[in-house]
Amino acid sequence: MGGGMTMQKPKKSGARKGADVPAGGNGAPVATAVAVPAAGRGTLTVADVTPPSQTPSNTAVLRRHNLWLQSLHQLDETARAIKLDSNTHELLRHCKRTLEVAVPVRLDSGKVEVFTGYRVHHNQFRGPAKGGIRYHHEVSMEEVKALAMLMTWKCALMNIPYGGAKGGVVVDPKRLSEREIEALTRRFTSEIMIIIGPDKDIPAPDMGTDPQIMAWIYDTYNMTTGHAVPQVVTGKPVSLGGSLGRVEATGRGVSYVIAAVSKEMGLNLKGLRVAIQGSGNVGSNAAKALHEMGARVIAMTDVAGGIYSEGGIDPFKVFAEVGPKGTITGLAGYKPISNTELLALDCDILVPAALGGVITDKNANAVRAKIVVEGANGPTTPEADDILKSKGIVVVPDILANAGGVTVSYFEWVQGIQYYFWELEEINSRLHKIMTKAFNSLWALSRRERITLRDAAMRIALQRVAEASRTLGLFP
Ligand code: NAD
Repeated sequence: MGGGMTMQKPKKSGARKGADVPAGGNGAPVATAVAVPAAGRGTLTVADVTPPSQTPSNTAVLRRHNLWLQSLHQLDETARAIKLDSNTHELLRHCKRTLEVAVPVRLDSGKVEVFTGYRVHHNQFRGPAKGGIRYHHEVSMEEVKALAMLMTWKCALMNIPYGGAKGGVVVDPKRLSEREIEALTRRFTSEIMIIIGPDKDIPAPDMGTDPQIMAWIYDTYNMTTGHAVPQVVTGKPVSLGGSLGRVEATGRGVSYVIAAVSKEMGLNLKGLRVAIQGSGNVGSNAAKALHEMGARVIAMTDVAGGIYSEGGIDPFKVFAEVGPKGTITGLAGYKPISNTELLALDCDILVPAALGGVITDKNANAVRAKIVVEGANGPTTPEADDILKSKGIVVVPDILANAGGVTVSYFEWVQGIQYYFWELEEINSRLHKIMTKAFNSLWALSRRERITLRDAAMRIALQRVAEASRTLGLFP
């Protein structure tokens, strides 16, 4: 496993305020890497890391703390359910390509610090690899591999022509100045340039990264190739060939999915009581879109805590007041609420839109929402998923709920290739069409087969990837 950064004191001035400082809050398990080499195999399985003497409960513990093992387990279960042939199944249990890089950065103090970065391609059967870049101090190779696999399923589910990728740097960006973040981004881009490219692998923003960081990735790529390549990265500022609506797309997609699931469940969107964990890109934009649709956002949090108002929060007012990088915690005029309280709040819809692994077997019993819509990637552990299911709570899985971002990233890529840009109305209407179509297909499958929406989503996605695999055949 890669090394981490040397923790530094927060900068007194010039430090970026945008990124978060999560530390396994809200009962979120801190990812524990299981660094046990599996002889002759490229991936770890529960069997690989579990000596025969260990009990099944220990196996469950291992899986709970390792997103990669969870992802393999989910793949295995779905493969069994759709009777996937064993060759394709084995192929998909491996990431196509993993890259770990050292990223030396000269800090403002003059000291050189070496960060660890990763870029992973899980699969490219359906098209170039696509996935975000995360700056977070808990990033690990195991996490990046799991998130890359998740991207394979997400792109297949949305039926957009991409495989799955992910990247990340082990860094708490809040501790670096703007100049240091730029240097880190440019050096990281240069280190992963051997595997990214407009028809190979197209990065995008994720936790801790934003359009400015995408602009630096774009510029570094252009400077190296000697010409502008707008299709190499999505989530760029509009002034550099970014797409209208991309910044809001993931949150907007969450709202479209909430509208669709509410309709199916006979809930009126007007006045629907929604609680949102996370006030970053996804959380804030979901809140705004839901507010516009007439839903009532009654609570929101960020890493430090949050605000509650039974009468409803106006997110436009809140985010205008705190600014895009400020904290909502302690805002005057609202009751304070903790992240633990938010997850257990009496509401119609709960949207975890911050970290992975926040709804666990420790707190799932306390969830009182009728529907959980996963704005974040992997916010519900498998054990928590079972508990929510037994309580009759409907969970709209991440690979659908937060797919608005990758869908508009796809639009940005297409626009970049054509050098022809669409109006916002066209983007939102195409996004709505794709999200609603995907929701309807997995809703129908879940009703027909009496399975959860997550299982239905996984079956549709895996069947599409498997079909591509069969058609391609095996090289050479
Ligand atoms: P962001 O960095 O913009 O915001 C993250 C938010 O989570 C911040 O409000 C932060 O304060 C809060 N947070 C951090 N740690 C927390 C904790 N321990 N408890 C409660 N809140 C905490 O990130 P984002 O882009 O909004 O991404 C959020 C999630 O959505 C991630 O899981 C990401 O992978 C997923 N996602 C993002 C996109 C996208 O387009 N940005 C697309 C798909 C999925």
